[in-house]
Amino acid sequence: MIPSRILLVEDSEIQGTITRKTLEKTGYEVIWAKDGISALKAVVTASPDVVLLDLNLPDMSGTEICQWMKHNNNVKGIPIIMLTEKSSLDEKISGIEAGADDYLPKPYNAAELNARIYASLRTKALQDELRHKNKQLSELLAKVEALSVTDPLTGLYNRRQIDSTLDTEFKRMARHEFSVTCLLLDIDHFKSVNDNCGHDAGDSVLREIAQILRSSIREVDTAGRWGGEEFVVILPHTDKPQGMIVAERILGKVSSYVFADIPKRNITVSIGLAVSSSLIDTTDKIIHAADMALYAAKREGRNRVRTDL
Ligand code: GH3
Ligand code: MG
Ligand code: MG
Ligand code: MG
Repeated sequence: MIPSRILLVEDSEIQGTITRKTLEKTGYEVIWAKDGISALKAVVTASPDVVLLDLNLPDMSGTEICQWMKHNNNVKGIPIIMLTEKSSLDEKISGIEAGADDYLPKPYNAAELNARIYASLRTKALQDELRHKNKQLSELLAKVEALSVTDPLTGLYNRRQIDSTLDTEFKRMARHEFSVTCLLLDIDHFKSVNDNCGHDAGDSVLREIAQILRSSIREVDTAGRWGGEEFVVILPHTDKPQGMIVAERILGKVSSYVFADIPKRNITVSIGLAVSSSLIDTTDKIIHAADMALYAAKREGRNRVRTDL
């Protein structure tokens, strides 16, 4: 076991020597700081498990050190035991108010000192464990949250998340008056890919198209799987001509892409494009408009973009 490390902050040579001996005899590692500045440095560099803090120091008061530690996120979990004068009630109160976890009136005996340190170490160990568990829990929660918004096959956002992203964009748009463009994509003749090449090949086409979408959009844009073989792309701050450029780029990339499982076969998509306006001012309306445009693109021969009116 690594011995616990005690930072002893004490300016009196006599008192400090006695305390250090006592602590070392018990098996602690002791770092001794004889003034406030050295104490602050040691708190940061030595990561002590407990600080034994004399209140009266040549350059600053123990309460100041205590306050500094309790306001510093990296070290505020380290327990502080204030070493106070037996008679001074004020000192005890100001120490506790500054954030000390315990105090020990001088002169103290070895048993008392060790008992206080032991109690502080135990509390710190419990707090550390709790912090560790909390961290694990929040990591787990983050994972669950990520799963709940992600489509497992493609890793893109799922329909629910796309809905919520669009809602957010519409709210933002109402405040700042910019347009948002929505692309709805559907793979052409995808059923025949499944029928002729197998469902697994179909799945890998879906994944590769997802990757093409990711690589075709900006950081602020969002791509998602709307369902089956349909995808959505949300382009904030984008008007119709700009949206058309993105849609055409996607069409070009997909139609020229060599898919891993079906290298001899070309895949194309059809895209419906809709832009927010005074009439198209909700998530449902923009999706509906994009869907109508997609239907037109299919009817007119596929592998093309059509826009809302
Ligand atoms: P169109 O050009 O009119 O869109 O023709 P299509 O064949 O793509 O249209 P249809 O809606 O008839 O077929 C969609 C197909 O997508 C049918 C379904 O089996 C397939 N599909 C949906 N989800 C998945 C999936 O997760 N994996 C695979 N491999 N296929 C899927
Ligand atoms: Mg002193
Ligand atoms: Mg479809
Ligand atoms: Mg299709």
